[in-house]
Amino acid sequence: MDNCIFCQIVEGKIPSEKVYEDEDLLAFRDINPVAPVHVLIIPKKHISSLLELTEEDQPLAGKILHAAQKIARQLGLAEKGFRVVNNVGEEGGQTVFHIHFHLLGGRQLTWPPG
Ligand code: 5GP
Ligand code: ZN
Repeated sequence: MDNCIFCQIVEGKIPSEKVYEDEDLLAFRDINPVAPVHVLIIPKKHISSLLELTEEDQPLAGKILHAAQKIARQLGLAEKGFRVVNNVGEEGGQTVFHIHFHLLGGRQLTWPPG
């Protein structure tokens, strides 16, 4: 997807601060962090949102959650806790239409979100 910011990050056309990478996934620091740790975990394959996830993508979805655990440990969030968030569509607050999971931590997070 030529016009997708996150596909361009995957392709290295837009720089990012990577914290994790494997053959299917990439994780990098959010450009506008809302917590001391704010990482975006994405599949390298373009999927526009959770609504577009197919049955065939189920192993990929599982990999994303497992990567979230690994990255949380790697960044020292496991002891105090953290949050994993996926925004879907306009009212869900999604602004980039390449599926991504926010990994947030490093401060007390409040609930419910706004
Ligand atoms: P959403 O609102 O779609 O759930 O989250 C999109 C996130 O992507 C936002 O937190 C925003 O700061 C981040 N973002 C948008 N453009 C870029 C970029 O070019 N690089 C990085 N690292 N993050 C970005
Ligand atoms: Zn994309």
